[in-house]
Amino acid sequence: MQVQKNNSDILIKVENLHKHFGKLHVLNGIYTEIHKGEVVSIIGPSGGGKSTFLRCLNLLEKPDQGSVFFEGTDITKLKNEKELDQHRQKIGMVFQQFNVFPHLTVLKNMTIAMTLEKKIKKAEAEETAMKLLKLVGIAEKAHEYPGKLSGGQKQRLAIVRALAMEPDVMLFDEPTSALDPEMVKEVLNVIRHLAEAGMTCVIVTHEMGFVKEISDRILFIDAGIIQEDASPEQIFNNPKSERVKDFLGKVLY
Ligand code: ADP
Ligand code: MG
Repeated sequence: MQVQKNNSDILIKVENLHKHFGKLHVLNGIYTEIHKGEVVSIIGPSGGGKSTFLRCLNLLEKPDQGSVFFEGTDITKLKNEKELDQHRQKIGMVFQQFNVFPHLTVLKNMTIAMTLEKKIKKAEAEETAMKLLKLVGIAEKAHEYPGKLSGGQKQRLAIVRALAMEPDVMLFDEPTSALDPEMVKEVLNVIRHLAEAGMTCVIVTHEMGFVKEISDRILFIDAGIIQEDASPEQIFNNPKSERVKDFLGKVLY
């Protein structure tokens, strides 16, 4: 889906983002904009700063310098936890290690944040939950514990649990890296449907076929910098930087 871009469509704007872990300078001045409805993939070598960048977008990591504007508000300047939580609610995040609650049923995993954080009534939350679970084919697991789910099912649960909060953007950090190969497709399909439905998505992944097919834009991050920001067409057929060429040479076969 090609998205028409203009300034009023900017959902996230990142300026001069820096992050250190001790002496390690992990983010080294990141600038980018993410537009509403855009699907942006982030690729690059391990240790390049992709996860740290994603985590800075919802302040799971606090940047040392720079700004993250979310719908116009610089969230790095928010002082109290309540304001921060309100912003975090607008950002759904799915990690490599399906971070579902093992001690809660699938249904309770779905409804807990809706009822506690959004103050939605239990019956209504359950109705929404069942619709979403059905959508990703795990409604019959509603009363099971996550221990009874396959990796692919857990990850589909993690995705719809985030969606239940009606976020404005979904961040995915290697959502299929911990899955057995036969489960990768079912999870990518869920993400594909979301993207096609117009959800703004930022996806860190090594699934290059998927990246090529789904992205409006690709960011290549290495050494804490966006080394290249281009269309899939350009990245895969005519990359500018040697680093991108070298990386793709290693991961494409
Ligand atoms: P990527 O996701 O691209 O593999 P990361 O953002 O996870 O990269 O990590 C970038 C660098 O920062 C790596 O060298 C990693 O070891 C380091 N790093 C990440 N998180 C932490 C942390 N919490 N404490 C110390 N070092 C970290
Ligand atoms: Mg990572």
